[in-house]
Amino acid sequence: FTILGIESSCDETAAAIVSADKSIHANKIASQIETHAKHGGVVPEVAARAHLDMIDDVIAAALADADMTFDDIDGIAATAGPGLIGGVIVGTVAAKAIAAARSIPYYAVNHLEGHALSGRLCSDIGFPYLLLLVSGGHTQLLAVTAPGTYHRMGTTMDDAAGEAFDKCAKIMGLGYPGGPAIETAAASGDAKSIRLPRPLRGADNCHFSFSGLKTALATKLAHLGGVQTAPIHDLAASLQAAIADCLADRTKRAMQIFATQTSTSHTSTTNTLVIAGGVAANKAIFARLQTEADAAGFQIIVPPAKLCTDNAAMIAWAALERHDQPDQLDFEPRPRWPLDPAATPPPGRGV
Ligand code: ATP
Ligand code: MG
Ligand code: FE
Repeated sequence: FTILGIESSCDETAAAIVSADKSIHANKIASQIETHAKHGGVVPEVAARAHLDMIDDVIAAALADADMTFDDIDGIAATAGPGLIGGVIVGTVAAKAIAAARSIPYYAVNHLEGHALSGRLCSDIGFPYLLLLVSGGHTQLLAVTAPGTYHRMGTTMDDAAGEAFDKCAKIMGLGYPGGPAIETAAASGDAKSIRLPRPLRGADNCHFSFSGLKTALATKLAHLGGVQTAPIHDLAASLQAAIADCLADRTKRAMQIFATQTSTSHTSTTNTLVIAGGVAANKAIFARLQTEADAAGFQIIVPPAKLCTDNAAMIAWAALERHDQPDQLDFEPRPRWPLDPAATPPPGRGV
């Protein structure tokens, strides 16, 4: 079974072709980074138009890369939310048109489920596993028991980790997107040189908070004379270390809880921690979490960077995980679509 996947929920227009045996025949991504960089962030209306401009070419390029035609495609999947609705509509309408014209099944995929299952596309891990989803819009710890079954253990009370990278990069004049820019700048900086807080360290729950870190960074930067004179590389390294510490500390708590909960039902399997989403591409964060996972006796799975940041291979794969359960063509796009609809919000301003 081979699925063509489409991703268009944010600022990349992507198409990929993946088979049930996990072979990735094509994984094309047309980024709008240059379009949005001049605005310092994604402008929804501009993004929607760019998706419309690029979608046909990206799909054609994926088929060409795979050396396939539509005759080789058994199903078509598209991100149906959550995300910027204009882009989601472009991708889902394209997918529905192909599904109708070719009489093949259509899958409306949750973008977050794409991230959540990406660890299974690049490894042979089974269920259950603990997932740290760290992306531009989300920072959550989830127990994943099956495709479609997620128990949220913790979430951010304010900004997502990727959002913290992006906002801090903007404050430091490092541009957009912030994560890769900060990782590059941090490589030649001293992570111990500037003291920043570690919000919620040691807390008894699995929640996160990053907005205080952003404020602290802005204050330090101002004290150091602003972007012209401040040691930006040291600031970047210190910020990256603070975010890594926060992610590691909260994940450590989640590993303890996860291990206790699963020890009775799954005695024979090794516990697994999967890190997914754009921030999972960060090497320093991976190294920090690796240490924590080793100490807790968890094996750790991080997809290659191309599968961490937004891509369509993960969308095709999420559909392959349930390819006998396609969706109707009238499935409506969902601007909001939580993985665990039953999750209760954390104390404070939870999302
Ligand atoms: P969501 O998946 O929550 O809807 P999104 O799709 O915009 O949001 P992703 O594309 O998964 O998010 O990830 C993008 C985020 O990852 C951005 O905030 C970006 O700065 C961050 N990011 C990408 N690469 C790195 C990196 N090397 N280090 C840190 N952060 C990174
Ligand atoms: Mg993106
Ligand atoms: Fe994403």
